[in-house]
Amino acid sequence: MKTFTTHSAEETTELGRRLAAELKPGSVVLLRGELGAGKTTLVKGIAEGFNAAEAGAVTSPTFTLIHEYRGPKATLYHIDLYRIDTQRELDTLALDDLMEPDTILLIEWGEKFERFANERDVEIAIEHRGGDDRQIKVA
Ligand code: ADP
Ligand code: MG
Repeated sequence: MKTFTTHSAEETTELGRRLAAELKPGSVVLLRGELGAGKTTLVKGIAEGFNAAEAGAVTSPTFTLIHEYRGPKATLYHIDLYRIDTQRELDTLALDDLMEPDTILLIEWGEKFERFANERDVEIAIEHRGGDDRQIKVA
């Protein structure tokens, strides 16, 4: 487990760029934290770290549910399950079909489903620490 503290959205994006180097294709990454914690902000940096998208092009998949960013080494799927409540709805997303040796699933609110709470390879938990401070734990 590694713990980081950031003091701005830009610092969190920068941390995402650095963390990208440690994420392996073929893995499932769970992003935990309240609304506004900074999960999507971190993904901006991860996408940049993989040369898959510029930070400004990474937006929340709250309504679209899945965004795809293709990089030379991996394709990232940024998934937001905030609005998904039932197993049936989850099944319609066919996330299994996205799990390939060269893909990484970055899932917000995945812990709502037991399956992802158990199957994740990496868990990143972000906590508000007052103002713009965030504590980010990577396990
Ligand atoms: P989530 O995806 O967890 O709901 P977002 O990344 O969409 O959160 O939003 C985080 C919000 O908090 C953004 O408006 C961002 O500018 C702001 N913010 C302020 N400080 C930080 C920080 N240290 N890290 C990440 N975001 C921060
Ligand atoms: Mg988000």
